[in-house]
Amino acid sequence: MRYLILSDIHANWEALQAVLESAAGRYDHIVCLGDVVGYGADPNAVTDWVRGNVREVIRGNHDKACCGLEDTITFNPVARLAAEWTMNALTAENREYLRGLVRGPLEMDGFLMVHGSVLDEDEYLIDPYDALFQFPHVEGRLVFFGHTHVQGGFLLWDAGDRAETAKTKPSRDALRIAQGTTQLINPGSVGQPRDFVWQAGYAIYDSESRLVEFQRCSYDLATAQQKIRDAGLPPALADRLALGR
Ligand code: ZN
Repeated sequence: MRYLILSDIHANWEALQAVLESAAGRYDHIVCLGDVVGYGADPNAVTDWVRGNVREVIRGNHDKACCGLEDTITFNPVARLAAEWTMNALTAENREYLRGLVRGPLEMDGFLMVHGSVLDEDEYLIDPYDALFQFPHVEGRLVFFGHTHVQGGFLLWDAGDRAETAKTKPSRDALRIAQGTTQLINPGSVGQPRDFVWQAGYAIYDSESRLVEFQRCSYDLATAQQKIRDAGLPPALADRLALGR
């Protein structure tokens, strides 16, 4: 089975459309690692699409905040404004859908799906040190995570008296997941990349060949930015899309 792995779409309809076009014909099934909404100007279009097309979706911190499951006290002021705007913009049906999303980890076909980490759905796995603490809980597993909006991940291994970890860079060559190895993989963010590349990020995982392909694709950035400005969302949210940060 070939999986299209989406994460952190963040209500960016243009980026989502471009990803689907770019990945067309190369996957059998879609999964989503959370943060369907928040930041972008199209929360309803994106949530409608996810509802109709993705069965396995776990919740992200923005999904929780935008449907009132969690307050925005830990959010920075711009993220908080965007969450409040999104909560008002969402239809009652879409708010209910987001409220019903499950918390990760979600077990799939030989892999785990989490938003932040296996221990905490809101945890950021930014550097190898963060990843190290996951090892006892994920040894020998393949885990897809999101939340940091940085494509790539971490390889973990048992070095006898301790665990070791190294960054996995998103190479253009497919990454083979050897049986029994411990890999944490972030497909990148569809709608708000933060790895200094503005193009939408996603991954395709083939569970038979055990290959992960990291992908980027250009999208109609100008339209996504204009919609954010027209909606009255903080303009910084439009600017950052072009910077990939
Ligand atoms: Zn996010």
